[in-house]
Parts: sequence; structure tokens; C-alpha cells
Amino acid sequence: MLLAPPETSRALRTIRHDADLVVVGGGLAGTCCAITAARAGVRVALVQDRPVLGGNASSEVRLWILGATSHLGNNNRWAREGGVIDEILVENVFRNPEGNPLLVDALLLEKVAAEPNITLLLNTAVHEVVPGEAGAIAAVRGFCPQTSTLHELRAPLFCDASGDGIVGFLSGAAFRQGAESRDEFGERFAPALASRELLGHSLYFYSRDTGRPVRFVPPAFALKDITRIPRWRQFNSREHGCKLWWVEHGGLLDTVHDTERIKWELWQVVYGIWHHIKNSGRFPDAENLTLEWVGTIPGKRESRRFEGDHILTQHDVVEQRHHADAVAFGGWAIDVHPPEGVFSAAPGCTQWHAKGTYPIPYRCLYSRNVPNLFLAGRIISASHVAFASSRVMATCAHVGQAVGAAAALCGRHGLRPRDLLQPARLAELQRDLLRTGQHIPGLQLDDEADLARRRAAISASSELRLAELPPDGPSRPLTTPVAMLLPAGPGPFPAATVRADVARPTEMVAELRHSSRPENHTPDVTLERRVIPLAAGEDQPVTVRFDRAFPDERYAFVCFLANDAIALRCSERRVTGVLALTHQMNPAVAKSAVQSPPDGIGVDTFEFWQPQRRPGGHNLALRLDPPLAAFSATNVVNGVARPTRRTNAWVADPADPAPHLTLRWPAPVAIARVEIVFDPDHDHPLESVLMGHPERRMPFCIERYRLLDDAGRTLAAREDNHQGRNVLILERPVETRSLRIEVAAPGANVPAAVFEVRCYAEANP
Ligand SMILES: Cc1cc2nc3c(=O)[nH]c(=O)nc-3n(C[C@H](O)[C@H](O)[C@H](O)COP(=O)(O)OP(=O)(O)OC[C@H]3O[C@@H](n4cnc5c(N)ncnc54)[C@H](O)[C@@H]3O)c2cc1C
Repeated sequence: MLLAPPETSRALRTIRHDADLVVVGGGLAGTCCAITAARAGVRVALVQDRPVLGGNASSEVRLWILGATSHLGNNNRWAREGGVIDEILVENVFRNPEGNPLLVDALLLEKVAAEPNITLLLNTAVHEVVPGEAGAIAAVRGFCPQTSTLHELRAPLFCDASGDGIVGFLSGAAFRQGAESRDEFGERFAPALASRELLGHSLYFYSRDTGRPVRFVPPAFALKDITRIPRWRQFNSREHGCKLWWVEHGGLLDTVHDTERIKWELWQVVYGIWHHIKNSGRFPDAENLTLEWVGTIPGKRESRRFEGDHILTQHDVVEQRHHADAVAFGGWAIDVHPPEGVFSAAPGCTQWHAKGTYPIPYRCLYSRNVPNLFLAGRIISASHVAFASSRVMATCAHVGQAVGAAAALCGRHGLRPRDLLQPARLAELQRDLLRTGQHIPGLQLDDEADLARRRAAISASSELRLAELPPDGPSRPLTTPVAMLLPAGPGPFPAATVRADVARPTEMVAELRHSSRPENHTPDVTLERRVIPLAAGEDQPVTVRFDRAFPDERYAFVCFLANDAIALRCSERRVTGVLALTHQMNPAVAKSAVQSPPDGIGVDTFEFWQPQRRPGGHNLALRLDPPLAAFSATNVVNGVARPTRRTNAWVADPADPAPHLTLRWPAPVAIARVEIVFDPDHDHPLESVLMGHPERRMPFCIERYRLLDDAGRTLAAREDNHQGRNVLILERPVETRSLRIEVAAPGANVPAAVFEVRCYAEANP
């Protein structure tokens, strides 16, 4: 029997949602914005037009999440972003060190589903803006074809994190597309004349070895003549996924409205490449390979950029300009691509790095003319040149977190985005961000509610005085220059003794360097040079003495220049805030070990000195006389939770059998919440897909710890921590005169370290 049609009306089912903040776009910017706001008590509606979250980081596109760490290929030390994106990246590498993109989807979905304040609408495309009063947005509407439902979302605040800026576009927000002329902002890397040229889209494929021969018959639309791609000789049977980022197209088209056309043309290219690999006869090792996955949604790089009260430019990036309203930072290179993409004979990209990270001001994160519209992700207020740096996903996520916190603050005080520029509100915003783990260069958290920083006396069972990194590691030939990055000053730098294997009589050249800006880690100032004659012989102690005294605290570089007659002994010991560097080039993000831009493009010439990835990257075996005292217990309340110009960490003596910190108050205090920040290795980029990582836990991060009150009662304990930031809400607030934090060293060769301890009387201060 046929059922009678149940409805008489043929209008779409419509559901109305009332929220405090509507976030459109569930890429990393929108996702991190929504999570941040929701954790601050904001009722968030997150609308995403696709089935999963993550945008270009999702399994639909499969890009690795990167930011200021830039694949470890620049001089931005300890520059992973912090906050929600850090929690996600650390968790991803713990669960998914192999970089399976499906697991990235699952993790993002889990994180959002865990927030009761988030209403998540997947498969829902926003297509309409309902105008409100005085140019504001009253609501947005989105359609979900899976449920044939129209959603109307009302809120006082909106965040456009949609990549193409659908909300900004429909609401009349001022925007730009294409490259500005050099004269507009005085950006010397910009083209002489403004142009419509854009960065294009890309589609990727994954291949898999099936263990037996696989035949491939290309679809009729596949590109037949691979030589139409000028760089076709670069294709090989081993590279797939986002390693082929340069399979790019569409920069000369309309990257908003022509996306379906661009996708078809990219499919032609992708299947054409695979046809070439399988059927040209040039790749016998591709015999057993099959095409496992081809992208169906192109990754978009550039379309609209919206105007805020400040437009980020090349000057902000290269000069690392200070902004009083800094709320996030960037650090990827200015990375522009030829608009012809894969059909260009030119290199796939030109990347120019700055000497350090740069602050991103809050004024770039809201529309200058739509009063209740925040901007997050690649659409923030930036020139084409600055966008070429700020567009990477960890930077977008960090910006998203700033917007989430700003929306919470607006909600608390009944304000709109621009109102937060009042100095008192801005200070509150920066405080809220630092509290939740966001790193903002140059800022330290001075939290009036924090009982640890304001009122506790801090002591420790021991403090590392770095006298030795023992010579128990491999020997390292000095075929390329090597340096130790060590905390220095104020005062003279200690005598440093290395152990050298010397093949023939020679001279060792050592230099003491530092960075022209104390917050940077680019060794662009050579303070002293020593030339030390060496006789042939194994395992010789060689002492380098420098006369120079440092006027302030900053990192010093003890550099040993290349000499093929010398090998230096290394150490297995790894210490928070101490790194070995190599003067080298990372071909993924640079063309040589010295950045040498053409004259007149407004970019600096400098050397790259970078750590090598673990399991390599051993410290040099070293004795320091007098020992370095840069790891004091009081660092845990200095308001900075990663190394900057100083270590900012308490590090215990490696010989300490029971390392612990003690916080003491003159009178009992009530504590309901304790936050502890361990070392999740902010230097490591933690690429989310494809690459794979040798470890699931960051080696500096403490796994086991417990908290005790003044009566020795255990308040909290963890046996299996792998996150940097640990928030402990006590079952019942405790009255105590002291807090003892007992920690176990994370490894035999890694002493225990803590960056930050904060205590609050309230569970949610
Ligand atoms: C090929 C390629 C290579 C790149 N390489 C890297 C790299 O190696 N590392 C890196 O970090 N970055 C890289 N980038 C840059 C980076 O991926 C983007 O700039 C970044 O994804 C922007 O983040 P977002 O959150 O603003 O946008 P997206 O990641 O694009 O997310 C926006 C989301 O909004 C959704 N959306 C769009 N319209 C609507 C609508 N109307 N309604 C609801 N939802 C909507 C989209 O589906 C999408 O999921 C690359 C980009 C491309 C394309």
C-alpha cells in the first residue's frame, strides 16, 4: 500500500537557531574559533558546507597543517602557534604519527563534539545574509541538502571563516582581490602595477603499492601530452599527496566562481600525471602501484581578502612590526606562486622568509564596515604580499582562536568587534588569549587572578646548572657549520669545551654570534671569532673562550665553521630551551642556506641555521665553565610559556632523583584550578598528514606528575600525559599553604622541565 504524502506544504523545512556567535566555515580557522569561544561560555553555531571539518587540512584535500615553524626550514625557533591548534597537533601526532588524513578528520570532529556549547551544522552551505540595523548582519541562512532543511542562524556576532568570504561578500564588507601595486603600501615585493593574478587551486592524489602488477586505463579526459606541463620531468613514482603542491591551476581565472571548471582541469592534469607514471614506460617501479585516492574538492589558496582597520603588509611581516593590539603571530615565508601554476615554466613558488615571527594585530580580524563581522583564516585584512605568509593553516587557526576569545569578550560586555580596541578591553583580550595558551610575541601574562604569580614563593628540589652535555652520542663530521643555541647573559659567556676528532693538523674556527633583535634566533651579528690550531688526534677537548659580555638576556650561538678534518662528539642529552643547529637549507621552503633576495624587493639577506629532525639533531657534547644558570624555578611564574629570548623554563638537575616544585603562600589560599604547562616542543612543526613522525610523545613533555597540598594529600595525578597544557579542576577547592608538584623526568636523557604554573581560586576564573 502506498503511503499518502504526509505534507501539504512544499516549503522547505526551516529551523531557526539563536546563538551568541555564528561561525561560517569549518576550516581550521572556523574550528579553532568555535572551540575557543565555546570553552569561554559562548553559544556557538558552526556551519560547514562539507561533511567533515578542517577545510584544506581535512581528508578531502589533505594538506599538512603548517605555520610559523615552516617545516623547520627557517630561523623561527620554538614558533609553533599554541592554544587550540597546538592541542590538536600534539594530539594528532600522539594518535596518528603516520599522518593518516582520515584520523585528522576524526580528531577535529571529536574536539568539536566535545563542546556542549557548539551546535555543528555539517553539509550546510550559507548562501544568504539577512541584513540588520546600521549595516550589521541579523542572520545568515544555509541549506543542508542531506536533510532538505533550511537553517536560519541569528546572533549578535558573526565570524566569516569560509575562505571565500561568503558572509562578508553578501553583507557588503569591503574586500580586495588580486595583487596591490607596489605604490599602494610601498611594498617592494609587490608588482609595479596592480593585477588580478591570484594563487591557484590544487588537487592531489595518493598511490599505494598493491604487491602485484596493476594496469591503469586513463579516463578519456586525462591529459594526454604530459609535456604541456613544462616541469613534467619532476614527476616520479614516489611522490604523491601534498608533496605535489605545485600541481596548481586557476590563478588567472576567477577563483570563486570558476572553481568547478578549475577542478575539472586539475582532474585532467592529475589523471594525466598518473597515466604518465603508469604507462610511459619511464617508471618500472610503478608496476604494482594503484591510484588509491584522487581529491574531489580542490584546495583553494586565494580569493577575497576583506578590509579591517589595519591591512597587514610586507612591512609588518619583514620588519616584524610591533602592534599594541597583537593577538596572534605569523612566520611562514612570503610565498607567492606563478598564476599559471603547473603550466608555468617558472619555479612553483618564491619564498622569502623574515628573520623571525611577526605579530598579527587585532585590527586585521574584523570588517571595517560591517560592525558585527569578524574575519578569520585566509580572508583576514592583509595585502596580497602579506597574505602570502599569513594564509597557512596554523596561522589561520591561531587567528581563529583570537577571534573566538574576542567574541567571548564582546559577549561578556555587550560590545562589538571594534569596541575591543579600548586599551582596557584589549588588555583583557590579550590576557584571555595568553591564559588559554596562545603565544603572542613580546607579551607576558600578568594575570591578576593567578595566585602563583602574584603571591607564591617558588622553590624547586633542584635547578639545572648546565655544566655539561655528556659525550655519549654519535660523532658529527663538521662538513657543514654547526652551532649550539644557548641561553646567555647578562654577563660574560662561559668558556665552552667541545670534543673533537681531528684527522690532520688544522684550524678550528669558532664564532660567538647573536641576533640583531633579541627576540629573534637568526645569528646575524658575529660578536667574536676564534681560530684554534689543532693537532691530529681523537677525542680532544677544545676550549673556546670569548671575551664578550652580554648586556641582557638573549640566546647566543656558539658556531663551529665547516672543516672536513674535524668531527665533533655529540650528546644524547636533550634539554628544554637548548638546541643544536646546522647552517643548512631546507629545500621544501628555501633555495639556499643563505637567503639571497634580488636587490630592491624589501627582503633581508641572512643565513638559515636550523635544527635537524629527531632522531637526529643531537646536541654537541659540551662543557661550560661557569655553568649556565638559566633554568630557575621562578621561571614558571614569569608569564611566558615557551623559550623566547630566554628559556622561560624550570629545568631540574638531571641527577635529581625526585624532581619537584613547591609553591608556598604566607597564609592558606583556596585553590580550585591549577594549570601546568609542560614542554610539547614548540620547535617541532608536527605536520599533520603524509610526513610521519618518529615519536608519538614529545620527548621533553612530562608524562607522570602529581599535585599535593600542605598535608601531603594528592589533589590530582596523571600517569599518561602527552599534552603541553594541563588544566586541572580540583574535585573540591582546597585550602592550603603550599602546593607541591612532583614530576618524573620524561626520559633518561631528558631532565624534567615546566614552563608555567598558575593557580586560581575559582574553577573558571
Ligand atoms: C594546494 C594548497 C597548498 C597549501 N599548502 C599549505 C601547507 O602546506 N600548509 C598550510 O598550512 N597551508 C597551506 N595552504 C594554505 C591553506 O590551506 C589555506 O590558506 C587555509 O586552508 C585557509 O584556512 P581557512 O580556514 O581560512 O580556509 P579553509 O581551509 O578553506 O576552510 C574554509 C571552510 O569553509 C567552508 N565553506 C566555504 N564556503 C562555505 C559556505 N558558504 N558555507 C559554509 N561553509 C563554507 C569550506 O568548505 C571550508 O571547509 C595551501 C593551500 C592550498 C590550496
